[in-house]
Amino acid sequence: MERGAKIKMKKMLYKGKFVFNDSILQGTILLENEKITGIHGPAYSTDADVVLDYQTQPQVVAIPGLIDPHTHFRGFNLSYKEDEYTGTRGAVKGGCTTIVEMPNTQPKMDRIQTIYKKLKEYEKKSFVDYGVYAGVPSSIENLEEILEHFGDIMGFKIFPADYSNPCLKATLNGAYDSNALVILHAEDPDLTQECETPGERWKVRTIESVLSAINKIYAIAYPKVPRMHLAHASSAEEVLEAKRHNYTVETIPHYLLLDSETERKLGSFAKINPPLRPQTVVQQLVEVLKQGGIDAIGSDHAPHTVEEKSAPFIEAPSGVPGIEVTLPLMLTMVNWGWLTLPQVVRLTSTNPASILGLERVGKIAPGYVANLTIVDLKVKGVILGEKFESKCKHTPFENFKHVGSPITTILHGDIVYRDGEIFAPGHTLNVSKLKKQR
Ligand SMILES: [Zn+2]
Repeated sequence: MERGAKIKMKKMLYKGKFVFNDSILQGTILLENEKITGIHGPAYSTDADVVLDYQTQPQVVAIPGLIDPHTHFRGFNLSYKEDEYTGTRGAVKGGCTTIVEMPNTQPKMDRIQTIYKKLKEYEKKSFVDYGVYAGVPSSIENLEEILEHFGDIMGFKIFPADYSNPCLKATLNGAYDSNALVILHAEDPDLTQECETPGERWKVRTIESVLSAINKIYAIAYPKVPRMHLAHASSAEEVLEAKRHNYTVETIPHYLLLDSETERKLGSFAKINPPLRPQTVVQQLVEVLKQGGIDAIGSDHAPHTVEEKSAPFIEAPSGVPGIEVTLPLMLTMVNWGWLTLPQVVRLTSTNPASILGLERVGKIAPGYVANLTIVDLKVKGVILGEKFESKCKHTPFENFKHVGSPITTILHGDIVYRDGEIFAPGHTLNVSKLKKQR
C-alpha cells in the first residue's frame, strides 16, 4: 500500500530541551543512520541534513517515542473497525513509535501462520515499529509451533475466555521455559456478569473478580510462573495484588480521568473492560500512580463502529480508541502537577521497553534507536473524535481540554509526523528483533 510522501534523511540535529535519564537537559541530540549517535552541549554543531532548533522555545522537549504495549488495531476480517495503516497513522500522530498488537483479531493470532500473516500486514502498512502477542492456542501442537518461532513474537495474552482453555497451563509453563512475557486481562468470568444500566457496570464486574483472576492464573501457572504483566489495572487493590505476585502493572488514562458517571452519561461509548469505576476508586488509583506504583501506561486502543456501539448497552461491544489521546492526556497530568515529564517518559517508554524485554529503545541515549517525540508542554487543545486518524471517530474524551501535545514524531531518524502532517517512514521494524538475548 502506498504510504505517501517521504522525508528521508541521513543526519539530523535536535537542539533544545530533552529528557535524559530522570532530568530535563538543554543540549543537542545527533541522529545518524537511524540511531542516536551523540548527546552534546547546546553549542555543538556539525553538518546535518536537517536541524530542528527549539532553543528559544522552553516549552518544547524531546522525549523517547512512546512504546504502547497494548493496542487492538484489528485488521484481517475486522478491518472495517481499524487496520494496520490507520491504527499506526494514529500512533505517529499520538507521538507513539512502537505498538504491540493484541491477538483477539479475526482470525485469532493463536496459530503461527496467522501471526506471520499479521506481521506481513504490518511490514506493508505500518508507520511505526510493531510487535504482536500470541493468543492461547487451542492445541499443544499449535503451542509448540508458536514457541518454536518465539523470536518473532512479543509474548502471550490471556483473555478471560482463555481461563478455561485446556492449553492454558501448558502455555503459561511454556512461556516460563521460554522467558516469554504474559499479559493478563484479569477478570474472573465466574464472577462477572453483564448489566443493562449504564453507570452500574462496576457493580457486576467488580474489583473482587479482578483479584480472583490474578490469583487464579498464578495458581494455574505455579510453580512455573512466567513474567506476568497485569493489563489495564482499574483500581489500587488490583495494583497491590499484582505487585504481591511480582507482576508488572499497566493502567490506561481512562481509568485515571473518567469514572462510572462517564459511563452513565455516554452509555456504550464509555463501555470498556474492566468497567469505569466510581470516583473514590479512581482517586485511589491516581494516588498509586503519583506514588510510583504503576509501571506502564498503555492505550488499550480498541475501536468499534458507531453502529456497533449503538446497540443496547448490555449487547454493545467493549472498548474505546486511545492511541491518539494517551500522550496529550499524560502531558495534561504533568501540567496539573500529578507527574513530572521524566515520570511520564518512564511510564510510556522506558518501562514498557524493559517489561517487553527490548534493548536500545525507551531512552534518549547514544546507541539507541532514533525514535523520538517532540512535545510542546503548553499548547492547548480539545479532543475531538472527528479529527482522529483512526477509523473510530468517537471517544469518551470528546471535548476534553488538554494542555500539552506531541508536535513531531521521529522514527529511525525520519520525521513521520510534524505539525499535523504524516509522512511515510523510511524503515519500520518488528521489535522482537530488539529483544534481549537471555
Ligand atoms: Zn485490550
